[in-house]
Amino acid sequence: MPSPMTDSALARLPKMDRVLAAPALAGTPWRREIVRRVAESMLGRLRTELREGKASDAVDAETFAGLVAEQLAAWANAHPQRVINATGVLLHTNLGRAPWSRAAIEAAAAAAGACDLEVELDTGARGSRFSWLRPVLSAVIGAPDVHTVNNNAAGLLVACTVLGDPGGVVLSYGQMVEIGDGFRVATMAAAGGCRIIGVGSTNRTHLADYEAALDPTRGPPASAILWVHLSNFEQHGYVTDVGLPALAALARARKVPLIADVGSGSLGANLPAREPTVAQYLEQGADVVLASGDKLLGGPQAGLIAGGAQWVERIRRHPMARALRPDKTTIAALHATALAHAMSDATGGVPALPLHTMVAVTLESLRQRAELLAARMGLDGAAVVESQATIGGGSLPGDRMPSVALRLPGRASALARRLRVGSPAVVGRIDADAVLLDLRTVDPIDDDVLVAAVGRAGLGPVGGER
Ligand SMILES: *Cc1c(COP(=O)(O)O)cnc(C)c1O
Repeated sequence: MPSPMTDSALARLPKMDRVLAAPALAGTPWRREIVRRVAESMLGRLRTELREGKASDAVDAETFAGLVAEQLAAWANAHPQRVINATGVLLHTNLGRAPWSRAAIEAAAAAAGACDLEVELDTGARGSRFSWLRPVLSAVIGAPDVHTVNNNAAGLLVACTVLGDPGGVVLSYGQMVEIGDGFRVATMAAAGGCRIIGVGSTNRTHLADYEAALDPTRGPPASAILWVHLSNFEQHGYVTDVGLPALAALARARKVPLIADVGSGSLGANLPAREPTVAQYLEQGADVVLASGDKLLGGPQAGLIAGGAQWVERIRRHPMARALRPDKTTIAALHATALAHAMSDATGGVPALPLHTMVAVTLESLRQRAELLAARMGLDGAAVVESQATIGGGSLPGDRMPSVALRLPGRASALARRLRVGSPAVVGRIDADAVLLDLRTVDPIDDDVLVAAVGRAGLGPVGGER
């Protein structure tokens, strides 16, 4: 029930004509009708807040116009905007996962204009957008064939829709992973109409469970087996599952394909060996391996479908693959990323990619950088501390890598916010009520900018001059 005070506040809401004529909106580059739409929507929100008692007083037209101008100014900045990732999480999904290499950025920029996406320049004939990427990726991964879609979720969707037709895919209840934001592997696999035949139990699934789902004497058999990497969790205790080699033998006996959704998609190099490479999953008997482009591969968002040509070609020809095809800039960035993997011998076995460089950096060099940065920041009470970085991105559950961080003095939540809203934004980590800036995830190229950002956040010498 609105109080009389609310009624009078509602009556005093600024009139639209006065708002639009206010000096704060006089020089705006935004078109008139857009300013009006934004102002009307903000006014509507204010009206609701007054009615619901969440706001207590109306504002005058000038002040309100200022708020509209502020909103429009915020919209006019490029978004998503650059952030310095000082979280210590190398593949931070909320911060855009794998940072691209300089070569990938340049390749994407070159492809952004007119490019030879689907023309063979040599003959002038029509070509495929995958004609350059496909052989390079196949060679780098060590797979007979590979197709690329927009992301791994798309790969899962199209692979299960095509290879799970008509009988559906068998999937252990123990692998029905939720990958984040409420999205679940089993639901994504089913989204194209594929039947999911859940077998086993949460903690224990046996070969006999899969056998039953593929046994034609017990009803319509499944058309494929789906194996899913647990990505971001682990099970301990009274647990058993069926490994890929045993599933592969069963798949061969029943003449159905074995799809392995491995998520992270390592190509090896200097990454932890306990995550098998895509090629190793194929060697273990997977017919088709699904992997993300922006996790351990260190490239752009993409979904790789790698495996036997007879399976990959069926997927490639399906109408859904057309709907999920990647754009030219992604293809260009992925091509450049594949080249970095292919030529990593020239860079000491570490592919020239930001992710792999972050993994390779030694503790000693992190410590030296930290000491130098702490001195340049000139902060009282700042400390160089041991830290734990993680690869993240649901790549290796429980993974930890030693790292070094700057521990900043001051009230953690307020300081963390000031760093986040600065330009460029710096996202650190809060630990034991202090802001930590983990240096493993900060490109040394950004060290000067980091010193300056900490200065502007109200700590240390502003500008960060040496
Ligand atoms: C990350 C992940 C996905 C989703 O991949 P996107 O590229 O984010 O679509 C699917 N399955 C598994 C096992 C994953 O780890």
